[in-house]
Amino acid sequence: MSDAPVIQLQDLHKQFCKKPDLAQRLFRLAGRHIDNPTVHAVNGVGLDIRKGEVLGLVGESGCGKSTLGRILAGLIRPSQGQVLFNGRDASALQGQDKLDYTLGVQMIFQDPQASLNPKQRLHQILAEALHVHKLAPRREIAERVDQALLEVGLDPEYRNRLPHQISGGQRQRIGIARALMVQPRFLVCDEPVAALDVSIQAQVINLFMDLRDRHGFTYLFISHDLGVVRHISDRVAIMYLGKVVEIAPTREVYAQAAHPYTQALLAEMPDVKRRQRKFIPIKGEIPSPLAPPPGCTFHPRCPHAMDICRQQAPELRTIGSGHQAACHLLQAGDNDIITKNGSL
Ligand code: SF4
Repeated sequence: MSDAPVIQLQDLHKQFCKKPDLAQRLFRLAGRHIDNPTVHAVNGVGLDIRKGEVLGLVGESGCGKSTLGRILAGLIRPSQGQVLFNGRDASALQGQDKLDYTLGVQMIFQDPQASLNPKQRLHQILAEALHVHKLAPRREIAERVDQALLEVGLDPEYRNRLPHQISGGQRQRIGIARALMVQPRFLVCDEPVAALDVSIQAQVINLFMDLRDRHGFTYLFISHDLGVVRHISDRVAIMYLGKVVEIAPTREVYAQAAHPYTQALLAEMPDVKRRQRKFIPIKGEIPSPLAPPPGCTFHPRCPHAMDICRQQAPELRTIGSGHQAACHLLQAGDNDIITKNGSL
């Protein structure tokens, strides 16, 4: 792994505003003030992802992790902030540089069934990007399709099948093969194993690790499950209501999580070594991003919440080597204060 960041996210924000309906537009024309509900999906995220690194991004549904992945893959534009690709602003790239970014960063989706055209045969799905971007002469395309099928562990005999004629795990392999066709360098994997059986999940995760060894890929690996990212990630970032609340090397997250939310996620993880311990679900539900709570957005669910937590949002700050967390309980260099004081 190199120290040079391939992707840098700088103070990234993404808001989604509901379009006013007819009645609201008429009220506005009449001079009445109508509030436009705004979802703050991503709220000031800054991250560096190094070349060859696997960064796990974990959080509950609705925390903004998929939106962040889509911004990074260039599928949606941020409302504010920048994505730097090899040090250059991705939104300002033109011509060949823009194509390098578009093809170099590929996304693998959660639902392989929905992301494949049901009317196209597998070889058509795989060859589409090569045709559209004129990336290979026609005579080479069939060979490239067969190579991609072999890379993801599928028999080239499958090339004439339709997506419904293969299993869920095989469909996800086709999703990966489709990304490989354009020779990417960075893969954004959005819950790529969440829809698969547990036994198939392990096979697909092993495939991701093999591909990284073979091609030196960099990954943003998004999941709601800390157990899934454990074996594949070099670092793990925990996201809550649009913000990164903790980021650390993987080993440190699992051995010495500092943020109460990370600790709560770990307490929810099934673990054969602690079968006798009580399962402790996180209190309450993630608040609506339409109206996030003031101060620390985790305070309505946090067992350690203090007065300051209800008023002032904590900054993400360094508490150890490569370890950052955003919590008022933490002082620089002291990341075990919560386990000393708390009950988690
Ligand atoms: Fe809990 Fe306060 Fe830390 Fe937020 S800042 S996680 S509410 S202790």
